[in-house]
Amino acid sequence: MYKLIDGKKLSQSMREEIRQNVEKFKEESGREIGLAVVLVGEDPASQVYVRNKIKACEQVGIKSFAYYLDAATTQARVEELIRSLAVDNKIDGILVQLPLPAHLDSKKILGLIPFSKDVDGFSAENTGKLCMNEPCLVACTPNGVMKMFESEGIDLCGKNAVVIGRSNIVGKPMAMLLTNANATVTLCHSKTADLKRKCLDADIVVAAIGKPKFITADMIKEGAVVIDVGMDRDENGKLCGDVDFENVKDKCSYITPVPGGVGPMTITMLMYNTYISATRS
Ligand code: NAP
Repeated sequence: MYKLIDGKKLSQSMREEIRQNVEKFKEESGREIGLAVVLVGEDPASQVYVRNKIKACEQVGIKSFAYYLDAATTQARVEELIRSLAVDNKIDGILVQLPLPAHLDSKKILGLIPFSKDVDGFSAENTGKLCMNEPCLVACTPNGVMKMFESEGIDLCGKNAVVIGRSNIVGKPMAMLLTNANATVTLCHSKTADLKRKCLDADIVVAAIGKPKFITADMIKEGAVVIDVGMDRDENGKLCGDVDFENVKDKCSYITPVPGGVGPMTITMLMYNTYISATRS
């Protein structure tokens, strides 16, 4: 019988813990913790993400500073804003909502965020530190997955882990985190030969592909832990993951649902990173 890892529930208990820590920080330091959220343009999905991030800040007692910029905002104006936030001591974290409009140079803009305020954990400095297993701000989604393993007491040491997807924001940091936790990691992508064989050898499978129900039951070993990072739409437009949940679940020891699995953890880890950033400054 499989066990469902409930990301919503874990996320709620973590937010309560963060709220208490934030309150304690405020009492001891006499100052608030601040997160700047920068949204350029009117992309509806980005607007929802930003709203949810601001709501999460309210929940945990972090002060949010929202900057809504017009879609036509120039590169120079966005750079000027990030430079000013970088030196503003009311701001502990800077989040630039991606994707930015096409005329903006995202790499250059993100590069202006000091690594101590890079609460998304996307910078080369934080990624490099993660690779060297040094303290850093870790990308929120894969770090949320690590919290899920921890909350269930899933031992990663010596396990075979397969991560499918090598993006800079999910797959690669996920592989690093699992390596740092002493798992033996195979990082797969669209050019991987015989993905099924690799998955069948895995004690732990993390799917971060972006293809609905791509991971099928014949790819999963009996008793495996399956983590579904995917946020996709099925043929009826319904939200689903990269894993064919209904057919895979009975082979698993643990599995995450979509929705209600990894998704809720991401914003919670952003709150966690903002708190960590404040305590380190
Ligand atoms: P991405 O940048 O598009 O990367 C997808 C990865 O999947 C790539 O490395 C790609 O390989 C690999 N891939 C594609 N087709 C494959 C195949 N047939 N076999 C094996 N690998 C294949 O995506 P992402 O940003 O990492 O996101 C992945 C999924 O996670 C999406 O559904 C996204 O919506 C979701 N997501 C969820 C959260 C959350 O909070 N839950 C956060 C971020 C992302 P190549 O490198 O060779 O192209």
